[in-house]
Amino acid sequence: MNRRSFIKNSGLVAGAITLASIPENKLFSNPKKFNMKATHKLQLSFVPYTLQLKHAFTLSTSSRTTTPVVLVKIAYDNYCGYGEASMPPYLGESHESVLKLLSQLNLSQFNDPFLSDDIMDYVNNTMPGNYAAKAAVDIALNDLTGKIIGLPLHKIWGLNPAKTPVTSFTIGIDTPEVVRLKVKEAEPYQLLKVKLGRNTDREMIETIRSATQKPMCVDINQGWTDRQKALDEIFWLKEKGIVFIEQPMHKNNYDDTAWLTQHSPLPIIADEAFQTNSDVAKLKGVYNAINIKLMKCGGLTPALKIAHEVRNAGMKVMIGCMTETSCAVSAAAQLSPLVDWADLDGNLLISNDPFDGMKIVDGKITLPNKAGIGVVPLKQKTDIAKFLK
Ligand code: MG
Repeated sequence: MNRRSFIKNSGLVAGAITLASIPENKLFSNPKKFNMKATHKLQLSFVPYTLQLKHAFTLSTSSRTTTPVVLVKIAYDNYCGYGEASMPPYLGESHESVLKLLSQLNLSQFNDPFLSDDIMDYVNNTMPGNYAAKAAVDIALNDLTGKIIGLPLHKIWGLNPAKTPVTSFTIGIDTPEVVRLKVKEAEPYQLLKVKLGRNTDREMIETIRSATQKPMCVDINQGWTDRQKALDEIFWLKEKGIVFIEQPMHKNNYDDTAWLTQHSPLPIIADEAFQTNSDVAKLKGVYNAINIKLMKCGGLTPALKIAHEVRNAGMKVMIGCMTETSCAVSAAAQLSPLVDWADLDGNLLISNDPFDGMKIVDGKITLPNKAGIGVVPLKQKTDIAKFLK
């Protein structure tokens, strides 16, 4: 897709109209000014951080209690944009790989943050892959330009904040006692997401159903290997009030997944099978929907484009996240008025979130009326607070 048709499809035209209707003297006013010297150059800084999970996070293939992230700042004159890279181990990025890419970047060669096409071309061409690291820069750049304009990103994109969906709240694979505790913790949320794909699947569902009748979706994380058994399981899950099935089989098993999607009474969603926009055409006819995550596709700018491509391909759109701070989760939330389903609970699963951002009210994503991605650093007596200041 060329740039003109992308802009036409992406809602940026609506954003441009929004901007045109704002008096010029209001455009570049931002109540939140930072005490930094004007440089007229972009200044990138970053720091590694480790997220502590409230509960061990167990999927069909792994279990962990921490997630490495890298927090990023891009400063420009009196403004500062925040970004984040989150690196769950299965995606292959790490503190080392993200710091390696970010250390190679020289953003001070740019003196206009609105030339984001040029800036991100430079970042994307520095190294192949490394999508989480690139997402951190893209999120910070979007936050920065939003703050300079003085508007939340969803407004710039022409998205209606009243159309945000509810978010699901994730319950990992665990013992019945812990699962019951997690169901209690999930009290404020309207939709539960349950991790399946081990031999305790039915026990997990029965345990949750003994405590609540809330709608649930399930994420198999590629855990099923036999398509007929998978289909039988889906019919059983439908009886239990499950609303969709995420990544039932291995990400490369297109034939069996397409068969499953064709016969399934519930929508089948691609997660691990989807990385970035070049995958959309491959997954058409194989899945009913695609789960877009900023860390997989390289940030907000590609995610906005992909959401429209998925929709144009006749599939539904989900937005998800990794375990992340409120920084990356609030960034993803800016896109949520566009999607059918949201799974933006990564910040709720950690105990050391250094940001305040989007909130869940009665289970529904609620966007803050703040410029950019809508986050502010929390005042904590930690090294990270010093960095975020
Ligand atoms: Mg998933």
